[in-house]
Parts: sequence; C-alpha cells; structure tokens
Amino acid sequence: MNLSINNLAKTYNNGTKAIDNLDINIDKGMFGLLGPNGAGKSSLMRTIATLQAPDFGSIQFQDIDVLKDPMSLRKVLGYLPQSFGVYQKVSAEHLLDYFAILKGIASKKDRNVIVQHVLELTNLYDIRKKHVSGYSGGMKQRFGIAQLLLNNPKLIIVDEPTAGLDPAERHRFLNVLREIGSENTVILSTHIVEDVKELCTDMAIMNNGRILQKTIPSEATKTIKNNIWTTTIKKQYLKTMEEKHLVLSSSYNENNSLNIRVYSDEKPSIQFEMATPNLEDVYFIALKNS
Ligand code: ADP
Repeated sequence: MNLSINNLAKTYNNGTKAIDNLDINIDKGMFGLLGPNGAGKSSLMRTIATLQAPDFGSIQFQDIDVLKDPMSLRKVLGYLPQSFGVYQKVSAEHLLDYFAILKGIASKKDRNVIVQHVLELTNLYDIRKKHVSGYSGGMKQRFGIAQLLLNNPKLIIVDEPTAGLDPAERHRFLNVLREIGSENTVILSTHIVEDVKELCTDMAIMNNGRILQKTIPSEATKTIKNNIWTTTIKKQYLKTMEEKHLVLSSSYNENNSLNIRVYSDEKPSIQFEMATPNLEDVYFIALKNS
C-alpha cells in the first residue's frame, strides 16, 4: 500500500475532536479530500505532514513509519499549507534558490537546474524576476507549488489551494497540479467539488473528523443514476419540501423560483423529473446521511 492511515485520532486541548478514529488508504495519483469547513481536513493534512502529533493511530507511507520516523517522511514530502506566507520583496528565482539551499542542495549548478525546472513546471519562468510580494493570489499559489517541488517529493499535500482564486487563476493552478500529479501521490484537500471533479482519479468525502465515503469520481455518480430528481418550486415551499424529501441542493433560476434536487428511490411526486447525477449530489448525500 502507498499511504495507509489507521485508527488516527486527534482531540485539541479545547475538546474539539478534529480526527475521529480515521482509516484510509491512498494510492498513487491525484487524490481529492473533499469536505466542508471544519471537517478536519487541515488537521489530517498537518498530521500526515508531521507538523502535529495525533493522540494515537498509525501512518505508513511506502516503507516509512511516519510517526516513528518523521525525518524520513519530510525528505520525500512537499507540503503547501492553507496559508503560505513567505512573500518578501525578492524575486521568485532568488527565493527559490534560497529555499533550495535550505533543502540541502549545496551545488549552485544543481540549484540553477532545479529552480529553472520548477519555474517552468509552474508557468512562472517568464515572471521569475518579479518580486513574489507583487504576485497575484494564483501566482503565489503556483510559487508555493514551485517551492515544494524543489526536493522532488514523492508525497505532495496541498491544503485548500484554490480558495480565493479567480476562475482563470484557479484553472491555471489546477493545470499545474495535473501536470505533477501523474508521477506522485498528490493529496488535494478542498471544499470545492469542481476541483475534485476536474482533477482527481480517487476521492474521499470527510466530515466531523471521519471519512464518510471513499470513491472514484467517475463511478460515484453511476450508483445514484436513478435516484436524483429535480423540480421547480416557489421559494416559500422549500421548507415543506425539506420536511418531506431529502433535498440535496437548491438554486435560484431566472424567474426567482427555486430549482431543487432531491434524492429518492422513487419519483417523489408527479411534478419531479429524473436528473442526471453529478458529483455535487454525491457529496451532499454523504453529508446529509452523516
Ligand atoms: P478543515 O480544514 O476541514 O476546515 P480543520 O482541521 O481546520 O478543518 O478543523 C477541524 C476542527 O478542529 C474545527 O472544529 C476547528 O475549529 C478545530 N481546530 C482546528 N485547529 C485547531 C486548533 N489548533 N485548536 C483547537 N481547535 C482547532
């Protein structure tokens, strides 16, 4: 097994149980960890990245017992935290060279090669002379990926990287992740269903410190192909609908009424039509059933 987590638990000093006896196995490739804010994703990411210790449990990455030998894991880890705040008035090229020194690459020639390589991979080469402090949000996130690639990591963890990016920047960022995802194990934590849909070959849905469902995005929708129903209602009827049915989502349409999506084994009533399931339905079903 590639990354194997068993019976992992973490309760913070204030009594919040952020990771609740969690088990999961993660293969090579792009893995999406999807969950709402507060689900425990960052706590899990920080624990795998050896930045905080769990109360108990085990984490095995390939032949490394992560909790017993954190140094070995750190050598093969690339981690982009939720907020990555090193944005001095220094060019990206200089800052990456400096990080490469910190990561133990002593030879200037070797550093030049790897810095150029990661700048190209993250589409920052043309703006490598610009100060990182002047970068846009998306460029900063790509710089975050560039720095984590310096030690050629085998396990890459990116925590909520697209939050706050505009659509074009988000797209560029996801393309960079797609580029590096094929060779390694990449865990992408996010609350954005689209991130997982566009990118991940494998995924899990997390809430309340637990894994609710582990699935394959392309398969997940197939299992509910006869269970998603849609209709349009006046907004004042939403509450009644929610009392009668498992309403997964609702969105306003141009007539200021609501399109609702309902999960049901049978047609809920004459006014409903069957809809093609999407990954968001899968996500909301998991959350509502938890
Ligand atoms: P997510 O990344 O999914 O938003 P987090 O792991 O950040 O979830 O948080 C999970 C829960 O743990 C939340 O209730 C959060 O408020 C709490 N939490 C996170 N970090 C700490 C901390 N250092 N001390 C106390 N509670 C924390």
